[in-house]
This record gives sequence, structure tokens and C-alpha cells, in this order.
Amino acid sequence: MSSTTSLILIGVAVLFILGIKFLSSPKTARQGNLVAAAGMLVGLIILCNRDGSNVWSHGWSFNYTLIVIATIIGLIIGAIGAYSVKMTAMPQMVALFNGLGGGAAALVASLEFIKNAHPVEIAGIALPVTHETSAAFTIPMLFATLIGSLSFSGSIIAYLKLEGKFEKPMTFPGQNILNGLIGLVIIGLAGWLTFNATGGNAITAFIVMAGLALFFGVAMVMPIGGADMPVVISLLNSFTGLAVAADGFAINNTAMIVAGTLVGSSGTLLTLLMCKAMNRPVSNVLFGAFGSSGSAQAGAAGVVGTVKPIQADEVALLLAYAQRVVVVPGYGMAVAQAQHSVRELTEELGKRGVEVQFAIHPVAGRMPGHMNVLLAEANVPYDQLIEMEQINPSMDRVDVCLVIGANDVVNPAAREDKSSPIYGMPIIDADHCKTCIVMKRSMAAGFAGIENHLFYKDNTRMLFGDAKASLNGLVAAVKAS
Ligand code: NDP
Repeated sequence: MSSTTSLILIGVAVLFILGIKFLSSPKTARQGNLVAAAGMLVGLIILCNRDGSNVWSHGWSFNYTLIVIATIIGLIIGAIGAYSVKMTAMPQMVALFNGLGGGAAALVASLEFIKNAHPVEIAGIALPVTHETSAAFTIPMLFATLIGSLSFSGSIIAYLKLEGKFEKPMTFPGQNILNGLIGLVIIGLAGWLTFNATGGNAITAFIVMAGLALFFGVAMVMPIGGADMPVVISLLNSFTGLAVAADGFAINNTAMIVAGTLVGSSGTLLTLLMCKAMNRPVSNVLFGAFGSSGSAQAGAAGVVGTVKPIQADEVALLLAYAQRVVVVPGYGMAVAQAQHSVRELTEELGKRGVEVQFAIHPVAGRMPGHMNVLLAEANVPYDQLIEMEQINPSMDRVDVCLVIGANDVVNPAAREDKSSPIYGMPIIDADHCKTCIVMKRSMAAGFAGIENHLFYKDNTRMLFGDAKASLNGLVAAVKAS
């Protein structure tokens, strides 16, 4: 590889890192995407063959024509998908794209492995063989095939679960033992292939191993509840990154190593952060079938007080005469698609001199940044969105806290009830404000399937109904007051 190409690849790595950095704030996230995409484009243009040659040093070849055609097809499908997807279907799209990334990494590794194990011809053209069977080449190829295949099939199941195709986690006795056995067979085959990477037997063993890895991805995700899919996708995303990085090591592509490592590490960090915000270990997400009961019976023991309903015109009066109002959005706001009505209400309050802020819990909704995305779509100013740690210390100075379709993320059982499944999960202290208005349709439980102590507190009032309809009623009532 020439020194100019190496220098450009370092520039590509810097663009990827800057892209991720910009993604950390809603204000710069769009630029972050563009910067990282620019890095990917440069990486594609100067793409190198394994011997370090590229289009500039060796001229145009049929390979490059194929790459241009594939890039154009990918661009068209990606653009149509991105423009047509609904905000609420974003997790499905991420799952699908992640699966395709894992599948692509597995295909690259499989082809590299197979053509070195046995001469391969496609349409009468013999694929170039590098005769590399050293462990330094074979291990990354096997790793990328395994992890990429698992990520592909696991992501497709995650996608189907998010689409509501499998309502309940699918569990049966001895499932973890069966999965463990399949895992052991896969590791055994990979170990054998590391030292026997040529010949027909190697190809047969390789195909069986890849097939089992695909099956393992399905078996791993099937028992996990649909609502845990964002955590699973984040984990599979980190797997895809590692598979791409392993491909990069074996085929000597620096851009793939950097991009894969960044995706692998950021996916792992995001998984850990989400689990920390839910106060659940990753093992509980993978093997726990959490929240699958859907009943609100659990946690009812610590409940003290009665439920006190309220009407929209009474809430409107409270809001209109408040000095400081905090909105806590949750999954129900997304279901009701109430973000535009929330913005209308808060604008109306702002005109009356009421200070309005939004308290954002890191796992409110069903995907990371779910509330930020919805509120940004409705043009709520970024500076009104305050993170949980920042807003909690001043919650006792809030006149009215409007909890819109949030449940678990405001449940004081997380602080008060040691027997609660969510004990220890950080929550937004909605119960500390002067008056708390909870907007939801019924007394049904949230994702964790447990009773919410907040609904029974002396300072809480329940405004029952669909969040969008209730908010529209509030806007009308505030305007009329
Ligand atoms: P919850 O799932 O706890 O509660 C949502 C509430 O919204 C329900 O109680 C429901 O009550 C109400 N609701 C549903 N539809 C409507 C509607 N149309 N109008 C008004 N209310 C409605 O949501 P939270 O956001 O508080 O908590 C998120 C949960 O998801 C946490 O437990 C978190 O751990 C989990 N999770 C989050 C992930 C993430 O990345 N964000 C990933 C995986 C899990 P009702 O039916 O009575 O209306």
C-alpha cells in the first residue's frame, strides 16, 4: 500500500471518529452522519486490493464496475428506505441494516476462506487464491463468519419481533442448555478448521459451522421479549462491527478495521449504558424474558393511597397559573404520536410566561434517544430537553409535572421498594414536584409489568385518555382560560 493511500486511510479513520463524536448531540447528529458517510465514500474510492493496489495504481477492472453498480443499488435502496420509514419504525430499520451489515461481513469472510480452501470458479473465472492458511488469516475469517452470521439471523428475528410477528418470548425447558451445546459444536468446528483449512472436508465443516451460527442467532433472540429488542440490536450491532474489523485484519483493509472497531466499541458501550439505565445486567436481558407477563400485579404490595382522576379544564387552570412546568414524555407519547400536540401546548404556555422544560430519561420509549427524535421531529427546541441527572435536583421546585405516556421511568418503586424488579433503576423524580399529572389511558402497567406507586401519591392526579386527544383538549382549554 502506498504512503499516500495510507495517509488518506488515516483521514478516513478521523472522519469516522468525528462522525461518532458529532452523533453524541441532537444538534450535530445530522452532520455526524454526513461526516461518517463522507469517510465511507473516500474509503470506497481509494479501496485497496489485498496486495495494496487500487484503482489509481492499477487502472480500472471489472471488480470496480461491480463495486460501482453495488454502491448505486445500495444508495437507491438506502435513500428510499430512509425517506419512507416512519419515526416509530426506526428500530426495525436499524435492525434490518445491521443484519445486512453482519451478513455482508460473513459473506466476505466465507468467500475468502472457501477460495483458499479449494479453488473456486465463478462464471468460468477462477477466483484469485492467496494460499493463506496460517492461523493469523484463518482465525479472523472464522470469527467474522461466525459473528457476522449470528448477527444477520439474530437481527432478522429482532426485526420481525419489532414488527410484532412474535408476540411472546419463545421459551422451552432446557433452551439455554441446547443453545450452549450448539455453541460448543460451533467452537469445536472452528477449532478444527483453524488447523485444517484446506480441502473438501474443510469446506463441508465450514458450511456446517456457518449454518449452525445462523441457527444460533435465531435461537439466541427468539426467547427474548419484543420490548428488549433495542438492547439486543445494540449488542448485535457491536457483533457486526467486530466481524467487519476481523474481515479488515484478514484482507488487509485499514478502513474496515477502524470502522469495525468503532462500531464494535460504540455498540458495546450503548448496550451497557442501556442496561445500566434499566438497572439490569446484560445477562438478564439475554436470558430473562423480562416484562413478558404484562400484568400490573407485581409490585402492588408497596402501594399506599388512592387513585384521583382529574379533568382537562382543571389541569388547564393548574398549567396556566404555574411558573414552572416539566413534561416527562414516555413510550405512550410515541404510541399516541402526540409530540406535535405537546409542542403546541408548551408553546401556548410559553406565551403566557410559564417556564417549560422536558425531562428526558435515557430509556424512555423503546429505543435509545426515542424521545429526543420525536421531540426534534416536532421542532421542540433542543435547549428545553434536560437530561434526568440535571433536572432531578430541582424537581421539588416544579409546580406541575406532566407525565405523558411514561410509566416505569417515573415509578418511585425504583427508589422505595427493595422487592421491586426495577429497584435501583434511576428514575425521574416526578413525585417530588408540587402537582403531578399522569396522562395515560388506563391503570395498565408499563414495559416492566409492575404497579406504579406514583399513581397513588397524594400530589398525583390521573388524566385518563389517549395522550394526543387529552393534549388537544388541554391546548383548547388553556387557550380558553
Ligand atoms: P412504559 O412502557 O413504562 O409505559 C408506557 C405507558 O404508556 C403505559 O403504561 C401505557 O399505559 C401508556 N400508553 C400507551 N399508549 C398510550 C396512549 N395512546 N396514550 C397515552 N398513554 C399511552 O414507558 P416508559 O417510557 O416510562 O418506560 C420505557 C420502558 O421500556 C422502561 O421499562 C425501559 O426499561 C424499557 N425499555 C426501553 C428501551 C429504550 O431503549 N428506550 C429498550 C428496551 C426496554 P396505558 O395502556 O394505560 O395507556
